[in-house]
Amino acid sequence: MCVLIIDREVVTLNKTSMIITQANNESRKVLLENEAKTLCSEYGIPVTKFILSTTCKETVIAAQQIGFPVVLKIVSPDIIHKSDSGGVKLDLKNSTEVEKAFAEIMKNVKKYNKNARIVGILVQEMAKPSIEVIVGAVKDPQFGQTLMFGLGGVFVEILKDVTFRVAPIIEEEALEMITEVKAYPLLKGYRNTPPVDINSLTKLLINTSKLIIENPEIKELDLNPVIIYEKGLKVVDARIILE
Ligand code: ADP
Ligand code: MG
Repeated sequence: MCVLIIDREVVTLNKTSMIITQANNESRKVLLENEAKTLCSEYGIPVTKFILSTTCKETVIAAQQIGFPVVLKIVSPDIIHKSDSGGVKLDLKNSTEVEKAFAEIMKNVKKYNKNARIVGILVQEMAKPSIEVIVGAVKDPQFGQTLMFGLGGVFVEILKDVTFRVAPIIEEEALEMITEVKAYPLLKGYRNTPPVDINSLTKLLINTSKLIIENPEIKELDLNPVIIYEKGLKVVDARIILE
């Protein structure tokens, strides 16, 4: 929480409005991953633990604090697709691997876009692999804030197996979204694969709905991927675009 005094009026800003205000002040339309994940956390959406660092030394310390294995990602307002730029290194198991990955990311990113402004490196916990889902939102010119849900990878990219609802949604609608995608049986469990935590997924959809409704400045949101387990889930990458 931050207290501002504007024209003798006391204005309190929560973390969410501070992040959006700062992006506006810097004329940035795309929030950085750490900013987008902070917004998610403010709405009770579980995200991977993260620390923003700037130097190689800080990055190693951050990795030790988070605990190995870790992931390093470039943080730059000029790089939207981080892996395309060589800016993502996964499953780093010790300090030596982190130092090496830090140097490689810096080299790759400079080669990809020599003018890219680099804010730092986002050190984060490496989420264990499991089923990946995606949650998105777009502001439709006719219907307003609209939520999207589907399973990740081929299900969304090739089969276009996704579902939409106009926000805000209630619990029944969240459950409908989850159960109506064709890939739902995968979430329910099959053969030796246990079912995933449908209750956490329902909460994720409801909280995302709340996030976009309470922040109408959000034009697009993309939680991709969200890794979902037998118990709980984790947002691994978050992108938020402002109007
Ligand atoms: P991009 O900007 O390229 O979409 P992402 O942050 O999504 O970058 O990272 C690329 C991929 O790396 C993700 O789709 C996911 O498979 C994997 N990944 C990223 N962060 C993590 C993490 N913290 N734990 C596990 N896997 C991750
Ligand atoms: Mg991504």
